[in-house]
Amino acid sequence: MTEQKATNIAWHLGHVTREERALLMRQNPCCIWLTGLSASGKSTIAMALEQVLIQRGHAAYVLDGDNVRHGLNKNLGFSPDDRAENIRRIGEVARLFCDAGLIVITAFISPYREDRQKARALIAPDDFIEVFADAPINVCASRDPKGLYEKAMRGEVKSFTGVSPDAPYEPPLNPEIHLLTGQISVPECVSAILDYLVQQGILHAR
Ligand code: ADP
Repeated sequence: MTEQKATNIAWHLGHVTREERALLMRQNPCCIWLTGLSASGKSTIAMALEQVLIQRGHAAYVLDGDNVRHGLNKNLGFSPDDRAENIRRIGEVARLFCDAGLIVITAFISPYREDRQKARALIAPDDFIEVFADAPINVCASRDPKGLYEKAMRGEVKSFTGVSPDAPYEPPLNPEIHLLTGQISVPECVSAILDYLVQQGILHAR
């Protein structure tokens, strides 16, 4: 748990409720949390889903692993502690964006169950949709869009999830959506998520 440093601070309650914002946006805000190995397809699916949602008139926004590490989390590396802090901050940002009425899509390896569990608890368990982008490591390594598996196997990238012994990936035990991204196409993955959102009443007719 990150230490609370500031003292003499109090929560200032606003006049607009989360429900009023959700009504305005005509959607139930939620966080679609993609997790999986590097190159399993998280960013590709996140960006494709965001585009479809926006085209359908929904307010959606992607928080992407590499992008966030350029700014908000630029002071964090890949040690277990830094990975935990990375996910903690993303969870906090996702919570704020949900509170603002958005459908947030996050694309982070987020390898540890405990960190994902904490994000779920922070955002609100019912608003957290864990999506497992599940492709075998050999498929991910053969895709390798950033050339990272090749570098990791040569020892040029340290603590690489799924490859380095100090960087395990803990698959979700009970994800809301399980996508076999080594077998089905990107549009099929996006459709599966959209179907779930409709089933759950998260997307309202517009
Ligand atoms: P990640 O964000 O998990 O590191 P990326 O989305 O950056 O992965 O890369 C995944 C690669 O796999 C992309 O080149 C993408 O086009 C390809 N790909 C093939 N099939 C799929 C699929 N079903 N879902 C997602 N990506 C896929």
